[in-house]
Amino acid sequence: MTSMQAFRIHNDDNGYRGAIETMDTDALSAGEVLVKAEWSSVNYKDALAGTGKGKILRQYPLNGGIDVAGIVVASSDPAFREGDKVLATGSGLSETRDGGYGEYVKLPAALTIPLPASLSTRDAMILGTAGFTAALALLRMLDNRQRPDMGPIAITGATGGVGMLGVDIFTRAGFQVHAVSGKPAHFDFLRQIGAVECIDRHQLAFSGKPMESAKYGGMLDNVGGAMLAGFLPAIAPYGNAAICGLAGSPELPTTVMPFIIRGVSVLGVASAGTAREIRDEVWARLGGEWKPRHLDAICTKEVALGDVASVFDTMLAGGSFGRTVVRIG
Ligand code: NDP
Repeated sequence: MTSMQAFRIHNDDNGYRGAIETMDTDALSAGEVLVKAEWSSVNYKDALAGTGKGKILRQYPLNGGIDVAGIVVASSDPAFREGDKVLATGSGLSETRDGGYGEYVKLPAALTIPLPASLSTRDAMILGTAGFTAALALLRMLDNRQRPDMGPIAITGATGGVGMLGVDIFTRAGFQVHAVSGKPAHFDFLRQIGAVECIDRHQLAFSGKPMESAKYGGMLDNVGGAMLAGFLPAIAPYGNAAICGLAGSPELPTTVMPFIIRGVSVLGVASAGTAREIRDEVWARLGGEWKPRHLDAICTKEVALGDVASVFDTMLAGGSFGRTVVRIG
């Protein structure tokens, strides 16, 4: 038994609250692999969970943090040994089991990913669920025959974690990216990491017509609502829209026309429930040919575990710019 610090979330007679607490490793959710956490990250979902503004946890109390990377301290599963570097993203962390905002975490071996050799534990958390999601979107689009010659990929919510990593990853994979963002002050940065065009979402005026001329080969959408509905009619024949988020709205006010006239596909991207074999493939690619070229620049903020709550409100207000990593070890 070891005493440890964790950002622990409760929901009981005293209300919904999250704060740094001392607990024992014995009290952690069970798992064969005991990991000393080095880094975690802050995703939109972490901000919802940490503030209680979204229902993310399905049991209480739990340590927050849907991502973690660290070093194995002990393992009852022969697949892992003391000293191995590992990571986990999604997989029920901070939903049904203790997450990465703690000095230790116990992971089931089935959810534990060996760290790709080309990534540090910090790199893995700059990527985290956000990078995994952007790469999973790309994998799904390629599986459905998306090709660079079909046209540029529109990426909405481009200054957010998924968006920014998406700009870099899709560019690395040979696609032209048009970044859609509400923050013109960051357009130069988006161009530096690969965007060939930047579009101010506040200047967008969608016609409302069910079909438009085909301008985009496909899209990665983090926003939902009118934005997603506005882009779908402009996607080229047999292009794909990978649906990742709802930063703007969970609604999808559209018609069937893009699907039945142009064969456009909507591909769902659910990072939390990804099968192990797909998870392994995505991480292998993130550590290989899709490894973003600008990881350090995309990591715009580093906070200590004790300060993790300080970034939640900005994120929920749409003020994100890049990725925030959480220093634990
Ligand atoms: P961030 O907070 O880092 O980024 C969200 C971005 O969306 C903002 O930076 C902003 O970009 C844009 N945005 C925010 N509010 C609005 C609004 N009202 N209207 C239009 N655009 C807005 O979040 P993440 O990148 O971590 O996540 C993005 C979305 O993807 C979230 O909805 C999240 O829940 C979801 N997600 C889903 C996953 C999955 O498995 N499906 C996994 C991870 C995240 P800008 O100002 O540049 O336009």
